[in-house]
Amino acid sequence: MKRSLKIGSVAGIGIFLHWTFLLLVAAIFTYYYVQSQSLGAALSGMGLIMAVFVCVILHELGHALTARRFGVPTRSITLYPIGGLARLERIPAEPMKEFWIAIGGPAVNIAITIVLAVGLLATGGTFAPDALQAPGQHLIASLMWINVVLAVFNLLPAFPMDGGRVLRALLALRQDYAQATQTAANVGQAMAILFGLIGLLWFNPILLFIALFVYVGAQQESQQAMYRAFTEGTPVRQAMVTRFTTLGVEDTLSDAIDELLAGTDHDFPVVEDGRILGLLRRKQLIQALSDHDRETAVGTVADQSFFTTEPGAPLDEVFQQMSEQNCSTVPVVEGDQLVGLLTLENVGELIMVSSALKSHAPRELRRKHLPGTPVGDRSDGAGSTGSPAVP
Ligand SMILES: [Zn+2]
Repeated sequence: MKRSLKIGSVAGIGIFLHWTFLLLVAAIFTYYYVQSQSLGAALSGMGLIMAVFVCVILHELGHALTARRFGVPTRSITLYPIGGLARLERIPAEPMKEFWIAIGGPAVNIAITIVLAVGLLATGGTFAPDALQAPGQHLIASLMWINVVLAVFNLLPAFPMDGGRVLRALLALRQDYAQATQTAANVGQAMAILFGLIGLLWFNPILLFIALFVYVGAQQESQQAMYRAFTEGTPVRQAMVTRFTTLGVEDTLSDAIDELLAGTDHDFPVVEDGRILGLLRRKQLIQALSDHDRETAVGTVADQSFFTTEPGAPLDEVFQQMSEQNCSTVPVVEGDQLVGLLTLENVGELIMVSSALKSHAPRELRRKHLPGTPVGDRSDGAGSTGSPAVP
């Protein structure tokens, strides 16, 4: 999280500002300054944006603290110009848990709206919806309407936004989880196209970004749910590669390059008497070539911090661990002997094969429910629950 600045932590959850967020603050300041030619108006415009993002943090905490009640920790909350993102360790596949976690965010905005409305009533302040035109004069009313927009916008069924997660959870009460995800993702992509069109018509770049976020997010999540459905109940043995190239501790970088160029393997186990001592990944190999002599032994540069699995281990759990740790190859070990390699590529192949076979299988053979599912961005595989700010 190098591009983000930690601004604090709440209940043990780190809160970060992405650097692009500072661009937004500068843009807002300039916008108000140019419009009003007054420093006061520019500062109050900025004050309003800060208040909005405090509401966005509270929204994300709504998700995070609900998730904690179900035993799901949150890694971090990050603020981007288009909204906040709470990175949950995972999204529970029990539909009702996902439902409450998704609702937890917008519920906070509804609560803030009620508090501000009561405040305005008590002080006789204005509720005018045009308060947004003059935020300096009607800060509370502006903030109240923005919270209404935040709640409504996030509840639109644009999976993977909150409303889309609510939809998926409700569908999953009656359907197969992967099927429910697919339906929610289709609705989400249709919404994304709609957001994109409106964004273009209104020249609204934030809405265009949100459209892109929803479109790509929906696609990734449905793919992951499908992976999950196919890997559940399958042992690692069934998906592992048993023909692969290994390197000896004494082999050199030059030997490794020959193997890399001669075959399709990307990652090479470094073995001695059948025991794995390290894993030389393509990236490390390339890096090592610029740092070391070609005659350097691979044993000295191979990665020692890899994790291993066993042939009987459940494929879905190992697959989840692989996406969480952004790891494309896992050695499969029986006793102390290396017996296979599990790669994302051959898990993908297994899915293609099973999918082709299943279209001919009787319906009862298809899998019904999933105990948990890895979702979220490809980089860390964690579940994330994003909340775009004001469109
Ligand atoms: Zn949310």
